[in-house]
Amino acid sequence: MSNLDRQPALSVCGGRGFVVAEPVRELLSPRTVRLGESTEVRRLLPNLGRRMVGAWAFVDHYGPDDIADEPGMQVAPHPHMGLQTVSWLHEGEVLHRDSLGSLQTVRPRELGLMTSGRAISHSEETPKSHSRFLHGAQLWVALPDAHRNVEPHFQHHAELPHVTAPGFDATVILGELDGAESPGSTYTPIVGADVTLTAGAEPRLPLNPDFEYAVLSMSGEAQVDEVPLLPGSMLYLGCGRTELPLRATSDASLMLLGGEPFEEEIVMWWNFIGRSNDDIAQARSEWMNGDRFGEVKGYDGPPIPAPELPGVPLKPRGRVR
Ligand code: MN
Repeated sequence: MSNLDRQPALSVCGGRGFVVAEPVRELLSPRTVRLGESTEVRRLLPNLGRRMVGAWAFVDHYGPDDIADEPGMQVAPHPHMGLQTVSWLHEGEVLHRDSLGSLQTVRPRELGLMTSGRAISHSEETPKSHSRFLHGAQLWVALPDAHRNVEPHFQHHAELPHVTAPGFDATVILGELDGAESPGSTYTPIVGADVTLTAGAEPRLPLNPDFEYAVLSMSGEAQVDEVPLLPGSMLYLGCGRTELPLRATSDASLMLLGGEPFEEEIVMWWNFIGRSNDDIAQARSEWMNGDRFGEVKGYDGPPIPAPELPGVPLKPRGRVR
């Protein structure tokens, strides 16, 4: 998905100064963002006061929306730089096309992982023939400096490893959970998992105390470390935990996001992650000139023009201890 905000803020993220070293329970309220004519998403990251969780730098939750008589998601070609996009569905389908020539339908609980590296462009659309409901999350992972210019590539994994226990089934989206490892490429120590709970389940998730974590509620009613979490909201958990108690009061599903705190300061604007204002300005100008980001073939419509850059440039902040 694209950040379709026509006046996107330039935000500075990353760095130890933003990380909470201790376990905390910080509820993050979503910001409602309109995408196009009819679609609304709830943006959890970046959030006021909480911009990243590990290398996770962007989290939108959308649906479930009844799109029986609607076109659904229609996001025209747009560029990315310096990040990976994770498409994750609970209901519906998304057809992905990119400038490498990939053409892939992503279905519920399949991983669509696009590593932009230095430059890629893609489109995402609900196929003409589609399910009634669309429900999912769109997430971005920041690439570390050493890998942010890797060759762009797209991976689709319909089969992912699971961790199961009575009343509990976790699909490992990225990284490793309890010994089960996703085949998706990662560039920093990170984890993403989709957790399905049946009503009454009270599992304890094994965590890495060096990671920071957050949990996004996708559906149902569950308590995360005793905090009730409604669908579309997220609880930031800090670092220093070896396990996480969950309790499902109905059938519920959650996404666990975590990773080693992202030490590098990054500059994020529109669909780009760079290290300086100049990185961003150059990417914007190359996209507008039709350079560097390639061409998405087969999408019925023009690409998305970049918004205007904000007048006041930001520099990444110094690391704070
Ligand atoms: Mn996108």
